[in-house]
Amino acid sequence: MSWGRLYEGEPIRPPAEAGSAILQLTVGCPYASCTFCGAYQGVAFRVRGPAEFREHAAAVARVGPGDGRRVFFADGDSLVLPTARLLEAIALTREVLPTARRFSAYAGAAGLLAKSEAELRALKEAGLNTLYLGLESGSEEILRQCGKYCTAAAMVEAVRRAQAAGLRVSVMVLLGLGGVDDSREHAWATAAALNAMQPRLLSVLTLMLVPGTPLAEDARAGRFRLPGPAGMLVELRDLVAALALERTVFTANHASSWLPLEGALPRDRDRLLATIDAALAGALPLMPDVLRGL
Ligand code: SF4
Repeated sequence: MSWGRLYEGEPIRPPAEAGSAILQLTVGCPYASCTFCGAYQGVAFRVRGPAEFREHAAAVARVGPGDGRRVFFADGDSLVLPTARLLEAIALTREVLPTARRFSAYAGAAGLLAKSEAELRALKEAGLNTLYLGLESGSEEILRQCGKYCTAAAMVEAVRRAQAAGLRVSVMVLLGLGGVDDSREHAWATAAALNAMQPRLLSVLTLMLVPGTPLAEDARAGRFRLPGPAGMLVELRDLVAALALERTVFTANHASSWLPLEGALPRDRDRLLATIDAALAGALPLMPDVLRGL
């Protein structure tokens, strides 16, 4: 089987899952509502049934098992599946890839909040390890405007419950989502939500307008103004300055970043701020636009 025939559409995974076997437990995104998002465009969401999933997992195990230990369940929000279906998917994966140890997936608030603490612990014990959750913004108004399917308050609660059950949550936020007008509100509200979540991992991405998305159309029509590199750096500085995280790995080194950064918070907070200040003063080069990507 060719690589292209293994998946429906383009499998998307977080950069940290580069070494994982990518198993498409779901196809598409159950929400498909975010105005900035170009992922899974035109793909009708569906869940692979057990027989189809086992066949798919067996094919991936033969052709692209990654490091053999880590498995990432694509596409969007596998945690909307009932716990029994997730445990079954982990068991089926182990049948065809017996060395698999750690399972990760994208997750949203609704699926997590629908599960009891005992269910979350059962998933953890079965091998579920890291969940990637897109907070995007801590501002309820910005989330509403960008079509996010849930509130920041629900995502805070979902992350707290998942981490209390022993799961690692990697939270993604999106610089620029408030536009020029709401940049500061976006940074402060996002920091407040993150402080309430205390995620183990925080990944700061930078908004890039994807042609064909509603937000790109808003920008073209003048209804949304994307901050430029300096505006993004000021927003990043506002965000980092307002963070009160106790034990978080911080990364802003996604391909979309103007200024790749990483560190541990709170230990590296002053260094991160000094680096941003140096870039704002022109003492550090920014990533050339042609090298940026999603
Ligand atoms: S950002 Fe995530 S939740 Fe929103 S439409 Fe895209 S894949 Fe779905």
